[in-house]
Amino acid sequence: MTKKIVIATKNLDKLRELEIAFKGLPVEILSLADIAEFPDAIENGETFEENAEIKARFFSEKTGLACIADDSGLEVEVLNGRPGIYSARFAGYHAHDVTNNYKLIEEMEKVGATESPADYYCALCFIDTDGTKICSAGKVTGTIKVDAKGQGGFGYDPYFYINDDKTMAELTTEEKDLISHRGVALRNFVPKLKEWLSCTLE
Ligand code: IMP
Repeated sequence: MTKKIVIATKNLDKLRELEIAFKGLPVEILSLADIAEFPDAIENGETFEENAEIKARFFSEKTGLACIADDSGLEVEVLNGRPGIYSARFAGYHAHDVTNNYKLIEEMEKVGATESPADYYCALCFIDTDGTKICSAGKVTGTIKVDAKGQGGFGYDPYFYINDDKTMAELTTEEKDLISHRGVALRNFVPKLKEWLSCTLE
């Protein structure tokens, strides 16, 4: 027996990273796009954790299914932790990766920095139809540099250096998963989800 779980994201890159992690679990993963057109959840939490829970509860109620949400983003030291929970909309409400990256470089230039320590942070939240909640979080520390490199990943990856000369965008999905904020969060999350599924599925 399998359980239907909807992943609360319209970001196909994020969806791909999450789907790989749930392979082997007794689940049928659906994306929001598989079900219907939904309005966005109002992400008015103050932390990644709060926003992940808001999204998971919202889309679980909308779909009548169990739901997993990921809320993640970039915290740059010289920008006092920005863009943080506003990472997806750093350049405005209809921002996308190119405009957000442009804004990131612009903000670095404003403070006269060409590089800065930075963290990627990821909060995951599962809400079952009975209200059961499973959460987890992960972080990876690196350096934001104004010189972009690499074609892989998504979002700020071409600017996020994992060491002196390699960016997150130069890793395969599997390599990224081994070190990324999402990978760290998932390694804690998947066993807890597996245990819950084994209690609820026959
Ligand atoms: P969310 O969809 O509201 O959680 O926003 C996540 C935003 O954070 C994305 O739009 C990206 O800008 C950024 N982000 C999160 N995870 C990653 C990642 O793994 N690589 C690059 N950017 C990321």
